[in-house]
This record gives sequence, structure tokens and C-alpha cells, in this order.
Amino acid sequence: MNQKKFNRTARNYFTLFDTCRNLMPVMSIEGNREITDKRRGKGIYDLLVKNMEEFKKRGLIFGASVTVTKNNFKEVTSQYFLDSLADRGCKAVIFVEYVPVSDESSDLAPTDEEREYLAERILHLRKDHPEMVYISFPGDEKSSGGCVAAGRGFFHINSHGGAEPCPFSPYSDINVRNTSLNEALHSPLFTALQSGDLLSGDHNGGCVLFEKKNEVEALLNSKAV
Ligand code: SF4
Repeated sequence: MNQKKFNRTARNYFTLFDTCRNLMPVMSIEGNREITDKRRGKGIYDLLVKNMEEFKKRGLIFGASVTVTKNNFKEVTSQYFLDSLADRGCKAVIFVEYVPVSDESSDLAPTDEEREYLAERILHLRKDHPEMVYISFPGDEKSSGGCVAAGRGFFHINSHGGAEPCPFSPYSDINVRNTSLNEALHSPLFTALQSGDLLSGDHNGGCVLFEKKNEVEALLNSKAV
């Protein structure tokens, strides 16, 4: 996308959020400039900061989504980083634990000890900074009834329109380009997941569906779906 087209698209999104104030944009940031640009691409950190300033100028609230890896878990839970978001107008931070999708990336996943550090740190942040909402994903599900994927609490739409149970369970049998959201919510895969026992399985703070991805794949490929 050339710069002119990019600027026009960005302006359209600001207008959209300005008009529909029930929508809340959430931007992905991975920590400081170095860490964010390394994961998201050169220049992304500065672009995010520019967007945050524009949201603040327009009086729009926004959130930040942070992928927590074993490399950045201290940086992204540091007071310095969180204050920098709050000063720019951020009202909610979603900590998303990194879930590996290949053997090569498994080293990035936080260990049990690091997840405990994250949980402990979030407890303190909630107590000391009630002005900001802190969400831990999937960590918080442990205390809120287990996996909320596949329309039990939410579902995910990928960049091609495929409705998936969750970003951590990227399987789809229906596309919202061809159906309504209501139909997507009742897709064969979602229906099978909601009526089966996979979502209600024991939750130890990790991702239930990722741990059972073979069963989800089998369900997707079965005649029932
Ligand atoms: S699929 Fe995993 S991350 Fe997604 S809602 Fe279920 S447990 Fe949480």
C-alpha cells in the first residue's frame, strides 16, 4: 500500500472510531521500540505511538494488546512501560501469553514460573492502578469458568473472514463474507465444540484448545462437521 493510500485508510479508521464510540480499538505493541519493531516490523512502534496520540487528541479510548514471551515478560509488566501507555491515553492492557505454533518457536513461550510472575504482577497492578483494566489471556480464564472460545464468550475472525474458535485455535468451517455473524456462531464446528466437552476441560492457566488441537482437527475433519 502506498503512503497516500495508507494515510487515507488510517483517516477512515479514525473517523469510524470517532463516529462509533461503542467500538474500542486495541493496538498490538510488544514493549519498547526495539522489541516491537523486531516482532512487528521496522517503524511500527513509532506508528503506534502516533496513532495513540491521535486517539487521545480525539478523546477516544483505546487498549493495547501485548504478546507475552519469555523475552519480554519483565519489560511489558514494568511500571515504566505501563505508565508510558497510560500517559498516551491507553485504558486497557490485554496480556496475551505466547502460544507456540511450531517447534522452532516453542522457546518463546513463557515457562510456568514466568506465567506465575505475570499472574502475581497483574494482581498488584489491579490493586495499585484501578484506573486501568488489565486482562490476562488465557490466564484469567482459569478463574472465570474455563475456555470461552467458539462463541461461548467470543470468537475470532481471521484476516480472510474465517470464523475461528479463538486465535489460538485457528480452524474455520465458515466465512463471515458469506454468512451473518449469527450463522457463524452456529457453524457445525462451533456447535460441536459448544456441545462437546473440550471447552469445559480442566483449565490450568494455559490454552485448553491449543493443548487439544488434535481433537479440534479431528472434529473439523469429521463427518459431523
Ligand atoms: S482457545 Fe485457549 S486462549 Fe482461546 S479462549 Fe480457549 S483456552 Fe483461552
